[in-house]
Amino acid sequence: MIQKVSHIGIAVRDLQAAIEVYKKLGLVVEGIETVESQKVRVAFLPIGKEVRIELLEPTSDESPIARFIEKKGEGIHHLALATDNIENELKQAEAQELQLIDKTPRQGAHHASIGFLHPKAMKGVLLELCQEKDG
Ligand code: ZN
Repeated sequence: MIQKVSHIGIAVRDLQAAIEVYKKLGLVVEGIETVESQKVRVAFLPIGKEVRIELLEPTSDESPIARFIEKKGEGIHHLALATDNIENELKQAEAQELQLIDKTPRQGAHHASIGFLHPKAMKGVLLELCQEKDG
């Protein structure tokens, strides 16, 4: 079952510069992590207790985030919704004939299991489903 908004991913060219901007709103960096599989460096900034902003900086020109910035510029990249059962959620989405990028979960930042639905399926929004480590 989808339970809440987990995070909003924002593609940025320069992680440190982006952090400085978001700090001006009083937000605090909770952690910075490199996700090798996605070729990104990610900074997490909590909004309240449950939601985070994820700033995503490409670590390579082949990173999906680099390609996104090249095409569209910096900005909101994806919306992530938390689920208590990622495998089931992806199966159900497939059964509903939603176009999936990931048919089976893969490892995301924060040790979460994640899977993406194609923006074509979700009215222009790249939607991430994620099961957080504890939930
Ligand atoms: Zn994400």
